[in-house]
Amino acid sequence: MSEEKIPLAGVIGSPIAHSKSPQLHTHWLRTYDLPGHYIPMDVNTEDLEHVLRTLPKLGFVGANVTIPHKERALEIADLITDRATLIGAANTLIFRPDGKIHADNTDGYGFITNLKQSAPDWDPKAGPAAVLGAGGAARAVITSLLDAGVPEILLSNRTKVRAEALRSDFGKRLVIYDWVQAGNMFEDAATVVNTTSLGMIGKTPLRVPLDGLRKGTLVTDLVYAPLKTNFLAEAENRGCVIVAGLGMLLHQAVPGFERWFGLRPDVDSATRAAALR
Ligand code: NAP
Repeated sequence: MSEEKIPLAGVIGSPIAHSKSPQLHTHWLRTYDLPGHYIPMDVNTEDLEHVLRTLPKLGFVGANVTIPHKERALEIADLITDRATLIGAANTLIFRPDGKIHADNTDGYGFITNLKQSAPDWDPKAGPAAVLGAGGAARAVITSLLDAGVPEILLSNRTKVRAEALRSDFGKRLVIYDWVQAGNMFEDAATVVNTTSLGMIGKTPLRVPLDGLRKGTLVTDLVYAPLKTNFLAEAENRGCVIVAGLGMLLHQAVPGFERWFGLRPDVDSATRAAALR
């Protein structure tokens, strides 16, 4: 009689010690009393392909990939979902029994699901969305906002060519603003998103003027350390509906967990507490 295999998964990045994913997935494994382990793995870029080809042989059923491997993982994968292709990066890998690596990107799913759970009255069709930043996370956010029915994206990034590159990928529904005029985007926006790392603990504060923010506008920040950024606190003072970034992190983990361990986990207050432990 063959012994049943215990499924293994983990998160691959460098550095990786700060990642909240191990405590999150371990919390779900324990909550639902499922067999399995989820571990952090610090891997260099030059070793990534070898590691990804070896992990399935060790009993791994999949992995999350994070900075700096999200783009390289997509190149290595054998099969890629449409949304990962559009975003140009992977964050969730499934190791199939036939040996093929299947790459997906669940950041956009996590972003939108967080908005829908935290602000159920949010209407994506209500007007343009203003997006600060044009890095990897911005691609996922823009893809999911357009998919949800946002009519137009107003986009501003310190390095303008990065914003222009997004416009050439996403087309006329993106309108680019100079970084010094980023605050002007807010006057017409029904939704405002900070996808830059500004405002994160230990980083430069976000100094874009917020006078244009209108009461009732939905404002969200991808930065989740601190949980409520100064940007969100100021938006709240101006009567905006605010949504913190931690929920995106929790929701983006759901599809991977379900594929690897066979059960769709809930994102609830216990999940939040586990991620913050
Ligand atoms: P990234 O690709 O490195 O992009 C960083 C972005 O921040 C770029 O737009 C960059 O502008 C901007 N930026 C950095 N320093 C700046 C400064 N001093 N002044 C103006 N702009 C500056 O990183 P990413 O992967 O997109 O991640 C961005 C943030 O989102 C990070 O804080 C990350 O932790 C967070 N995030 C959160 C979640 C979640 O689940 N909540 C998921 C993904 C990412 P330039 O192009 O001009 O450099």
